[in-house]
Amino acid sequence: MRTYKGNLVQVIVVILSVFLMPGVGAAAEIYKGPILDAHSHVGESFDWETMVSVMDRNNVSRQIIMARGYPGPSGSKDLPGNDDLALKLSDKYPGRFLPLVGMQRTELTGEHKWRNPDAAVNALLKETEVSLATGRFRGIGEVIVRHYAYSSGKHAEMENPIYSPFMLRLSQIAARFDVPIVLHMEGEPGFVKDFTRLLQENPRVRYIWAHSCGRSKAPVIRTMLTNHSNLFCDLSSMTNVGETGYGTGWPRMEAYNALIEQNGVIFPEMREIYEAFPDRFMIGTDVAHAPGMNQKNYGRRIQRFRELLAQLKPQTAAAFAEDNAIRIFKVDR
Ligand SMILES: [Zn+2]
Repeated sequence: MRTYKGNLVQVIVVILSVFLMPGVGAAAEIYKGPILDAHSHVGESFDWETMVSVMDRNNVSRQIIMARGYPGPSGSKDLPGNDDLALKLSDKYPGRFLPLVGMQRTELTGEHKWRNPDAAVNALLKETEVSLATGRFRGIGEVIVRHYAYSSGKHAEMENPIYSPFMLRLSQIAARFDVPIVLHMEGEPGFVKDFTRLLQENPRVRYIWAHSCGRSKAPVIRTMLTNHSNLFCDLSSMTNVGETGYGTGWPRMEAYNALIEQNGVIFPEMREIYEAFPDRFMIGTDVAHAPGMNQKNYGRRIQRFRELLAQLKPQTAAAFAEDNAIRIFKVDR
């Protein structure tokens, strides 16, 4: 009888210690605070009530919203949107949706237009100034620089020059209105080099390099953040939860690309960077197409972010979840 009791105590101690170990098993803590989704999209086919309902169910306070001006994958009925749509959404649900001046625009398809802005691009730049002057937009984006195709069509694979007259003019506008620019640029070495020049020459512009700094490897992210205090990263779509999402290696991986986590555990080299630069990162879901805007897809991305945030120091987690976005986008508390 004594032996049995002794064993039982031992078993209970072992079970408790396993459950109390950080990051182990079902008892692993999750981050429970509110989240600002710093990278989200809208198009004409999105259902607004669904958007609000998934936010509420997942304790997401606000979304930075960027109109997707491209049509959906061919054959789909996923209609594009525009800045007026983003404004209407933001008006209907005050304080929940914070629009940026959208840059997923068909006018910007074709790298020659970035080198020699044509009438349509000039009009877009003028329109951007007019929109920002209203004070109703919190920034500019998502600017699609280097993008891997995940569908067919002319807006799928993009290879636009980051150091170009278009980007220089857009940067001047961002500086003048003191708003950040969100950009999508896979971390191809030549692009990173050119981006360095843009960052150096525009120290007053806050650049948000989406998707974990273009899914760059840890040493590249560390070097870029060290050298450029005006550079920020969002971790949007970097949750490795299966199916589509940059965090799974989709739509493709090159030698210079990296993921941030596996099975809900942040890679150590990435966690070190997060703790070294706690004021530079934000999170986001990046649901760009209407069929993906549902509780299953949105909810599991946010849930995974909550698991990842719990592996950071509490103040770092709170900064990533909300505080950094509030500061960088100058959002009212
Ligand atoms: Zn993107």
